[in-house]
Amino acid sequence: MVSPKNIGKYRLGRTIGEGTFSKVKIALNSNNGEKVAIKVIDKQMVLKNNLKHQVQSEIRTMKLLHHPNIVRIHEVIGTKTKIYIVMEYVSGGQLLDKISYCNKLNECEARKLFQQLIDAVDYCHNKGVYHRDLKPENLLLDSKGNLKVSDFGLSALNKPNNVLNTKCGSPCYVAPELLMSKGYDGASADVWSCGVILFELLAGFLPFDDQNLINLYHKICRAEYVCAPWFTQSQKKLIAKILEPHPGKRITISGIIDDEWFQTDYKPICAYEFDPIINLDDDSCAFNSIEEKTTKPRITKSSSFINAFQLIAMFQDFDLFTLFEEQDHMKQTTRLGSQHTITETVEKIEAAAADVRLSVKKMNNFKMKMHSKETMTRCSRSYFDISAEVIEVAPAHCVVQVSKSVGDLRMYNEFCESLSNLLKDESSIPPHGQDSVDRCDTGSVEKQDAEW
Ligand code: AMP
Repeated sequence: MVSPKNIGKYRLGRTIGEGTFSKVKIALNSNNGEKVAIKVIDKQMVLKNNLKHQVQSEIRTMKLLHHPNIVRIHEVIGTKTKIYIVMEYVSGGQLLDKISYCNKLNECEARKLFQQLIDAVDYCHNKGVYHRDLKPENLLLDSKGNLKVSDFGLSALNKPNNVLNTKCGSPCYVAPELLMSKGYDGASADVWSCGVILFELLAGFLPFDDQNLINLYHKICRAEYVCAPWFTQSQKKLIAKILEPHPGKRITISGIIDDEWFQTDYKPICAYEFDPIINLDDDSCAFNSIEEKTTKPRITKSSSFINAFQLIAMFQDFDLFTLFEEQDHMKQTTRLGSQHTITETVEKIEAAAADVRLSVKKMNNFKMKMHSKETMTRCSRSYFDISAEVIEVAPAHCVVQVSKSVGDLRMYNEFCESLSNLLKDESSIPPHGQDSVDRCDTGSVEKQDAEW
């Protein structure tokens, strides 16, 4: 019997958390008086975004996870319009709140939480499940201060604004290989996020933080961070091994567990004690015949992970130009946003160079140097050297970084102005709203999914 306040034996209470696709409500099991948390997912949203199969398989996976440091799923109930994921209720709030409240944690507490996080992640990786969105918002604390990872395996529901809702409105916990939209290994991407969390627990601030998304992107990709003055040598050593930008060189979970700092006071958990009784019957019945009623999907995104840059591409009214257009007069670098493919952007750079009579030498498919056409020596007043690099941040969304090493500023400004006008040329930009299907279906997103 389903009434607005009762879902089966559960009496729904107040909302304790909210996302784009879901709300989390506290509820009471009327059979035994136990409190549970119920994630209420809007089925239409899942179907509109083509996430049905993924959500189904992820629910199935989540039900396989039985570990003291992972939020336990009790059952899944489907109604005509909603999916209800009934979970254990974790009463101590988010780790994020604790970090905000305490600023930084003492070494013992930070290590205990990190050990519990690594135990949970190790257990899931051994079952072939990767989180892909580990961050303090997804880490809950129980009444005894033990850590519980939520949403393990539910990455399809890691909604767009979650990625942007981190402290600085950007993907501070995301591994560099995910930002580069290349194929990635879920295990080492999760390790990276654990490293960012460890840093934050010990420091009280993030290792990578910048108001400007591109600067943040560069800092993450180059692992540019500054340790807090109170970090010990052994903490620094472990963090450096985790925050290694090259996923192939990054420490593995077993490497972390073997680490001397990690081993202090470590009480490993025997995962086999938690192996579940498997009941996979309710994940498919959570979906009934609602699909026929849904409209054609606007975003046919099949990728399970949206990085902040792909997100920007999805937001129809998001003006990339205002985000990226920036000129640093001291360093003589300019960044311009481009709503064109990488090839079109390169063509526009060539056209802008021709406009101001500069010849172009391509260094590779996305980097080029521009020189004055007249044969000049490097000492001549009219000699110029400008370089331009195109960074693809999402399909049909690039950032062009122009920098001048030699030559007169007037010519550099003329080039930047010409390029800026060419990039803003609306005639070759597909109208907003109509292109989201195509844009999100393009190669790099698909490729990322295929290589997952
Ligand atoms: P989510 O949509 O999973 O990100 O959850 C949103 C928020 O709801 C979380 O940040 C928590 O504050 C709360 N929440 C989610 N799951 C639980 C749970 N099992 N127990 C208590 N609170 C939860």
